[in-house]
Amino acid sequence: MPSATIIAVGTELLFGQVVNTNAAYLSRHLRDLGVSVPYHHVVGDNPGRFRALLDEALAQTDIVITTGGLGPTQDDLTKEIIAEAFGAPLEYDDEAKQRLDEIMRGFGAKNYTENNLKQAKLPASATIFYNDAGTAPGFAIEKDGKVAIALPGPPREMKAMWQKGALPYLAKLADAVIYSKILRFYGIGESALETALLPIIDGQTDPTVATYAKEGECAVRIASMRKTQPEAEAAVAAAARRAKELAGQHLYSEDDKDYPEVVVDLLRAKGLRLAAAESCTGGLFAGAITSVPGSSDVFDRSFVTYSNKSKLDLLRVSPETLAREGAVSEQCAREMAAGALAHSDADIAVSVTGIAGPTGATCDKPVGTVHFAIATKDGVEAYERHFRDRGRQVNRSVCVLELCDIIRKKLLL
Ligand code: ATP
Repeated sequence: MPSATIIAVGTELLFGQVVNTNAAYLSRHLRDLGVSVPYHHVVGDNPGRFRALLDEALAQTDIVITTGGLGPTQDDLTKEIIAEAFGAPLEYDDEAKQRLDEIMRGFGAKNYTENNLKQAKLPASATIFYNDAGTAPGFAIEKDGKVAIALPGPPREMKAMWQKGALPYLAKLADAVIYSKILRFYGIGESALETALLPIIDGQTDPTVATYAKEGECAVRIASMRKTQPEAEAAVAAAARRAKELAGQHLYSEDDKDYPEVVVDLLRAKGLRLAAAESCTGGLFAGAITSVPGSSDVFDRSFVTYSNKSKLDLLRVSPETLAREGAVSEQCAREMAAGALAHSDADIAVSVTGIAGPTGATCDKPVGTVHFAIATKDGVEAYERHFRDRGRQVNRSVCVLELCDIIRKKLLL
């Protein structure tokens, strides 16, 4: 099994101003390729220390991947040091220069400085990865069986270049192709999901199956590296089928879609329109749904009814319900959903009212107590949930996921 060291370059990382998320991302993806990662390093913008670290890493592992320090300024030294270590002179790369010209023209030519031009100089003999998400190109260079790959620091640029440049490059080195798929799960914790999927996780080298916890939900990445694309796709599809058998009741997306996107797709497929009545989420649900492009096809409106008065005024929740049961109650959730349905053009209306914390809890209604309801022309159904308190913002985000879950399950009935 080949091995790799990840070196994150940047003094801001050492100062603790930036968290080294690049290393975590690369480690996960290298694992998919069957590459072991025995070391992560962080080094400041110091040429001497970086060179010493690079030499050590090249002696210890087959591949060294760096992130950061590729930019135009004086302290961006990654390229120069790697070129020096590999004995490759820096030369102007025509395409890099041309791309830089275009970007700079976009900014106005007066911003074009000698510093910027530095970015078009790349090590001779390197494979260049042009940067579609920023300006600094990255590259891969080989010598004596060792490989160095330099990627930019900004995570968005780094990920794009990894996917488009470095990953295919490494696959080609191994004379293989990589195919991967991400499944999304809701309503199951990461460790329970891992336990459920053990039959396809344990002892598997290809496809690799890895679980990741996200906020209130989990993802599973299935990746295969085979000689041909059809072989890799077939291996991933077989593992995905098994994952569905093992934990399918919690699976909401087989192609890495967010829950709101899945809900919008389903509503569109069924030709239905949605409304909401939100208390503790304060519009977060409407924000999540409308962040999906094209959601206007299916989303009518959301009533952000935070106060009791707004529940009375806009949704016609009864004053008796509020006085007797309180705003965080099944009956209130039912009346909110029914009110949203009655006062909108929607076919389905959902509601949420709960205690997001840290204040507002009572003995019988601790933080995390949330009532949901869904109303259609056939009636209203209510659900009571007691979520673990994960802090106000996460509690509210979990409510959005739960609303999506309630809608999806209703639509699939
Ligand atoms: P450019 O100069 O084109 O932005 P660069 O390769 O020179 O790219 P850096 O200047 O090293 O990148 O980093 C730019 C920013 O990217 C940092 O300020 C930081 O916000 C983010 N960043 C850098 N390294 C990491 C890392 N390892 N993990 C997460 N974020 C990072």
